[in-house]
Amino acid sequence: MSLKLDINPIKAWLPSIDNPLLISGPCSLESEEQAMETAKLLAKDHRVHVYRGGVWKPRTRPGSFEGIGSIGLKWLQMVKEETGLLVGTEVANTQHTEEALKAGIDVLWIGARSTASPFVVQEIADVLKGSDAVVMIKNPVNPDAQLWMGAVERIHQAGIKNIVGIHRGFTPFSETKYRNFPNWKTFIELKRMMPNLPIICDPSHIAGKREYLLEISQKAFDMGMDGLMLESHRDPSCAMSDAAQQVTPADLGLLLDKLVVRHEYADNPDFENQLDVLRNRIDAIDSELLETLSSRVKIAKEIGQYKKENNVTALQINRWTQLMEDRVSLGQKLDLNKTFVKILFQLIHEDSVRMQTEIMDNE
Ligand code: PEP
Ligand code: MN
Repeated sequence: MSLKLDINPIKAWLPSIDNPLLISGPCSLESEEQAMETAKLLAKDHRVHVYRGGVWKPRTRPGSFEGIGSIGLKWLQMVKEETGLLVGTEVANTQHTEEALKAGIDVLWIGARSTASPFVVQEIADVLKGSDAVVMIKNPVNPDAQLWMGAVERIHQAGIKNIVGIHRGFTPFSETKYRNFPNWKTFIELKRMMPNLPIICDPSHIAGKREYLLEISQKAFDMGMDGLMLESHRDPSCAMSDAAQQVTPADLGLLLDKLVVRHEYADNPDFENQLDVLRNRIDAIDSELLETLSSRVKIAKEIGQYKKENNVTALQINRWTQLMEDRVSLGQKLDLNKTFVKILFQLIHEDSVRMQTEIMDNE
């Protein structure tokens, strides 16, 4: 199913844009000086379109810095006045939304934790009715494209047409290289379901560490994403939140210099570009397929060990017959060719049995 809602392209609310959308600024606004100094440095780089600054911060545990509060909206107004940049902040409840609208904040974004709650999104949507704010919706913390899409629909049903999705990664199950794993297939799924929704990437919250920002940003462009949200701070090491992932405005400029921007304008379809974007998506899916297979192998080995300890055979024909039936029928529901699924699972199962017998034969 694909939903073609009348969502505006970014150009509708930012007519001067001729590069991918770039949002940058501190994770949290901390003081008037920090807000202004960071903004002035960023404004010198004409690639930055929107200044971000968290005012109300959703922290995982209580006790950390929870944001400067409403006074930060005033600083955002000052930034807008002095630099000409558009300004944006996160809203997580009705009070935030009312205050941000009243303060004339251009971009309001819904954070990952809020997107995961349809009640919260609906309450925010009700307050947004009748406004012409730009609303950005981060993915929920869990990789659920439907939940993400539902949040976009709720905001759209409130009459908002200037909507942008933000891919900021998903809570990992275990220790990973990145702070939030970039499950690109969830972004692809949202794009497939809502083809005209602009979607940008937030490499800062995916990475968790400055050193990974470049590779994730490039990947976002390779995937044809519409822009980036990158956290920056005049002095990142002293930041009151997310210190490890922020960069100075100068380092942001250097990072941007290294990025290869790929364009995917619908009104100028360039075959090679389009092909590249699609192939990059295939590459991402293939690497996820291999990662998934590798997790499966690990579990099959564990089962092998367990069978060995209990003197049970590697091959259990009833389980195998049942598994094959189930996979073929699931495959058919997913529009996959029956023979293809059969051969695929014969190979997968054969390899599991081979590994399990090896485990049994080894002392
Ligand atoms: C943020 O943008 O600072 C933030 C808290 O993001 P997220 O909702 O992606 O965690
Ligand atoms: Mn942050």
